[in-house]
Amino acid sequence: MIYQFNISTKERYQLVDITDKIEDLVLKSEINNGSVFVFLPHSTAAIILTENERGLKKDWLDFAKKLVSGFNFEHDLIDNNADSHILSGLLGQGKTLPFKNKKILRGTWQQIFLFELDGPKNRTVIIQINQ
Ligand code: ZN
Repeated sequence: MIYQFNISTKERYQLVDITDKIEDLVLKSEINNGSVFVFLPHSTAAIILTENERGLKKDWLDFAKKLVSGFNFEHDLIDNNADSHILSGLLGQGKTLPFKNKKILRGTWQQIFLFELDGPKNRTVIIQINQ
């Protein structure tokens, strides 16, 4: 089954916890055991698994900004978001997680985040649930 939902982001770089939305879809699906693929049809945002802790979220944003600072990106001459494309590609635009008895087998500190890298934007999250 394929589902989707939208998320409106407010900042240029922002972490949005989407764990509850993914877990809800897994609960409502008719599949008990399988895998859930979380995918973004976007090349300037990413999906990451990390702990939902205020300091760590700030660390991610600071680290991401620093990683792509100090370059003269060619693509910036076109639409000024080479940093967003590069971080999106590095972090990845999708993740697959296993679930058993409708419960995602993630660690306690593995929340699912949409990492906005070129906001504010309206983002689509695509969820594929497979047996
Ligand atoms: Zn671009």
